[in-house]
Amino acid sequence: MSFQNPVFIPGPTNIPEALRKACDMPTIDHRSPLFGQILHPAREGVRKVLKSENAEVFIFPSTGTGGWETALSNCLSAGDQILAARNGMFSHRWIDMCQRHGLEVQIVETPWGDGLPADRYAEILAADTQHQIKAVLATHNETATGVKSDIAAVRRALDAAGHPALLFVDGVSSIASMDFRMDEWGVDVAVTGSQKGFMLTAGLAIVGFSAKAMEATQAATLPRTFFDVHDMAKGYAANAYPYTPAVGLLNGLNEACKLLLDEGLDNVFARHTRIAEGVREAVGAWGLELCATSPEVYSDTVSAIRTPEGFNATDIVTHAADKYGVAFGVGLGEVAGKVFRIGHLGSLTDVMALSGIATAEMCMVDLGLDIKLGSGVAAAQEHYRSTART
Ligand SMILES: *Cc1c(COP(=O)(O)O)cnc(C)c1O
Repeated sequence: MSFQNPVFIPGPTNIPEALRKACDMPTIDHRSPLFGQILHPAREGVRKVLKSENAEVFIFPSTGTGGWETALSNCLSAGDQILAARNGMFSHRWIDMCQRHGLEVQIVETPWGDGLPADRYAEILAADTQHQIKAVLATHNETATGVKSDIAAVRRALDAAGHPALLFVDGVSSIASMDFRMDEWGVDVAVTGSQKGFMLTAGLAIVGFSAKAMEATQAATLPRTFFDVHDMAKGYAANAYPYTPAVGLLNGLNEACKLLLDEGLDNVFARHTRIAEGVREAVGAWGLELCATSPEVYSDTVSAIRTPEGFNATDIVTHAADKYGVAFGVGLGEVAGKVFRIGHLGSLTDVMALSGIATAEMCMVDLGLDIKLGSGVAAAQEHYRSTART
């Protein structure tokens, strides 16, 4: 196994040298103005990345999953109705979490490979004239299937119905890599983690709360302690946490936001799109198909690639690790064995992407798939050379 090869899993992502160094720091007093000089700029940087003017940003020592729990437990009460679509493993797990918290989830079963059905949301919300539904869940980018969904369309569905439900968005594999507009889309809680677009190790749950979400916390009665946003806000006001913060990671997050904002968010998104397009060109040249069913839903951070019937896609992932020391993602849940995933988010260049495409190609040829060595690489090379900035 080599530590030099980039990883091509859709998180954790490759860590830029500058961020590794930023995380590696001496112990400081985590209840001090010095800590505040790390914490407050990191929260401010996240707010900018979320494209929000006034969101309250909370950062927990946790992961994206803890961000889900922060949204639910602070804003809802047992028995509350939730509307959610299930179109992959991550949307499934968030629904499961809702059920374990005693929430009543109306599940819109959606084919794995499709985006979330905003038109169905619109019908259901319009029919809910009593406003029983308290929150709508939306997974912006289904990492299991490589499918992005249209969050603006979900907001339109809510607005068209004049429905007051909160909009919770899982942006764990989109935020800081794909266009995300918390304010413009009227997102009430945005959820992400440190190990995907922010290019750090796992260890932070990062959430943004709208004013409306903060308001909802007043009446919400689900139990919460570790993830209580009011305890956290009280801590922040004193340059502290209610417990011990992950200081090094927060320092890394502060630097990550600087890197992203210095590159410019639009440039970050364009880079992800261009790299993803190269991967998709390669997939086409291999004669394979994406799990994502149409170009409007193609994810710019991860591609789930279907392998031919009768072939176990997981073999590619195992073989790549064993023979070449390269990590790809396996298929999860319903698409286990049917797809393998190339993660292309975070700190990645077209040159790095080419190495991943080349490795996937070697594996598929090794395993007897009818693919011509170099075909996908050549297709991606054409895309990258013709779209490179001169
Ligand atoms: C990775 C991921 C999660 C889970 O995040 P953890 O940090 O592993 O808890 C949730 N949702 C999506 C869309 C993800 O990609």
